[in-house]
Amino acid sequence: MPELPDVEEYRRFFARHAAGRSVRRVVVPDATIVRNATPRALDRALRGRTFEEPDRHGKWLVAWTDGPALLLHFGMTGDLVWSAIEPERHRHDRVILELDGGDELRYRNMRKLGGAWLAHDPDEAVAAMGSLGPDALAVKRREFHERLSRRRGQAKAVLMDQRFMAGLGNLLVDELLWQTRIHPRRRVETLDDTERDRLYETMRWILRRWVAGYGRVPRRGEWLIAVRDAGGPCPRCGGPLARITAAGRTTWLCPTCQPDPAP
Ligand SMILES: [Zn+2]
Repeated sequence: MPELPDVEEYRRFFARHAAGRSVRRVVVPDATIVRNATPRALDRALRGRTFEEPDRHGKWLVAWTDGPALLLHFGMTGDLVWSAIEPERHRHDRVILELDGGDELRYRNMRKLGGAWLAHDPDEAVAAMGSLGPDALAVKRREFHERLSRRRGQAKAVLMDQRFMAGLGNLLVDELLWQTRIHPRRRVETLDDTERDRLYETMRWILRRWVAGYGRVPRRGEWLIAVRDAGGPCPRCGGPLARITAAGRTTWLCPTCQPDPAP
């Protein structure tokens, strides 16, 4: 499932191939993937327009043209494909942007979670994305602390909530809590200032490292993600990992490094 660093990689991919180029035509083989417009309206709105440098907010890609914007959410299985790399269209290519010169940038999404939206102005873009918190890679320390101090509930659920902060998903939150030695069910209102600051610092460190690796998961060193699929052992203490359900999601933790708040 795409996390913030993956979508940042898609943003760069989109910028590399489509920024500065104009839209010759938009083909939408499956009308249901465009959530707030008809394929015809999307084509009419984007045709002849030139893409600018795209933005990202959390897990959303916001591709402005010199007119309206195309918004993409990648759901579970979303991806971007460039025709020079993969010439043949695929049956899971849901939105096909035919650009000047004949190249195509394609939004592929097998399971069709997420989708595409059309926005004519920033207000429409905000409406399409829903009430999102600040981007997890861009949020300033002070805002992070202010927002966290207003929240109650289990750490995993709060950090996964896109209204608190946009961009953190299941893998990133497990990594963050393991790195900071906080149990996923620990209530955020019980965190002291040192723990809150460590959360912020570590979140930024993880995201920067992950983004710098172009979305590839770090496999070496002390990362939970490196051993998660194998189910352990803990890269820090060598003990067995535990799998629980928190915030409705499969959650990995080290019971030694992340003590249970209510044993
Ligand atoms: Zn451990």
